[in-house]
Amino acid sequence: MGKCTICGEKIQELFLGKIKGTIVRKPGKEKQYEVCFQCQKKLGSKDKILENIK
Ligand SMILES: [Zn+2]
Repeated sequence: MGKCTICGEKIQELFLGKIKGTIVRKPGKEKQYEVCFQCQKKLGSKDKILENIK
């Protein structure tokens, strides 16, 4: 927990478990991926984010 799946940077936590960034899940998969705000901003869409997760 707390690390960006794409760049590996630590993700800042805001409050009540909310993170500065986003959480994505591959369709049909249980595993959740945390993505930092910078990567989210850089990639723009959820589809692009998922493309960058191996
Ligand atoms: Zn990142």
